[in-house]
Amino acid sequence: MRILRTVKELREWRKLQPTLGFVPTMGALHNGHLNLVGRSLNENHSTLMSIFVNPSQFAPGEDLDSYPRSFDTDVQKFAQKSVDILGKSSSESERTAVFAPKTSELYPLGIELNPKKQRGTFVEVLGCSHQLEGAVRPQFFRGVATVVTKLLNAVQPTKAYFGQKDIQQTVVVRSLVRDLLIPTEIVVCETEREPSGLALSSRNAYLTDAEREKSVVLYKALSAARDLSKNTDNSAAIIGVARDHLVGSDIVDNVEYVSINSLDTFETLERAQGAAVLSAAIRLKSGLRLLDNVLL
Ligand code: AMP
Repeated sequence: MRILRTVKELREWRKLQPTLGFVPTMGALHNGHLNLVGRSLNENHSTLMSIFVNPSQFAPGEDLDSYPRSFDTDVQKFAQKSVDILGKSSSESERTAVFAPKTSELYPLGIELNPKKQRGTFVEVLGCSHQLEGAVRPQFFRGVATVVTKLLNAVQPTKAYFGQKDIQQTVVVRSLVRDLLIPTEIVVCETEREPSGLALSSRNAYLTDAEREKSVVLYKALSAARDLSKNTDNSAAIIGVARDHLVGSDIVDNVEYVSINSLDTFETLERAQGAAVLSAAIRLKSGLRLLDNVLL
């Protein structure tokens, strides 16, 4: 597998690819990531996966330093998926590559986690970044939008693949691609789940066995609420069903939000009409956050 470390190497490799699918990740790959990779391998001549734990989306005190990292295994998983889909010769071909830059490649001035000390260019997507995840983690979408813009500029992919698991992120990314006139098609892929229903996430590595078993409450809560949405479009009633499930669970410390939002603009909807998504985030007693969503 070709490993590209610098933007210069990346641009040289990119020139040789007629069409390119791009899967940005922070590594610690699971089947959710590999599904995006599979989709890209099937839909493009070549596929690039980036592995970069983006400092600017972490607030001081969050888990930047302890975020799970498993670079060698990640590369092996990507290589195996390429062989499964493209055949054995793919390992010799130049059709797949990993972009794993040092922080200084993407942040030439360096990056401070404290926004007051930051210098340089940042991207803010107004209207869809302040609510839900943006309210709980105020710097998060500015960091995401900034790194995704940098990556799309560096990679210039034909298509880029994102997971529905992070639904608000997909709205932010679609918005910045539209507003900044970036010529990449954004593809959103369904959330990959454990057989229990728990959405796969790199941070699930932090769960104990007991927590993992009980964490399915989040998907159950959202599913029960989605069932009600077949009979009513009253958001408060739908949200109430999900909340009742969550507050009844002994692993949940705090229900951070349960909300129904427009899939286009992410504005909060009092009536669950049109393309809408029900999202929730909970904090477990262990301190870990889980988020999930279902389309209504
Ligand atoms: P991350 O490495 O967590 O930044 O995720 C990289 C990409 O994988 C993002 O587009 C995520 O939305 C996507 N992703 C993460 N978990 C899942 C999942 N369970 N199913 C589908 N996509 C996912």
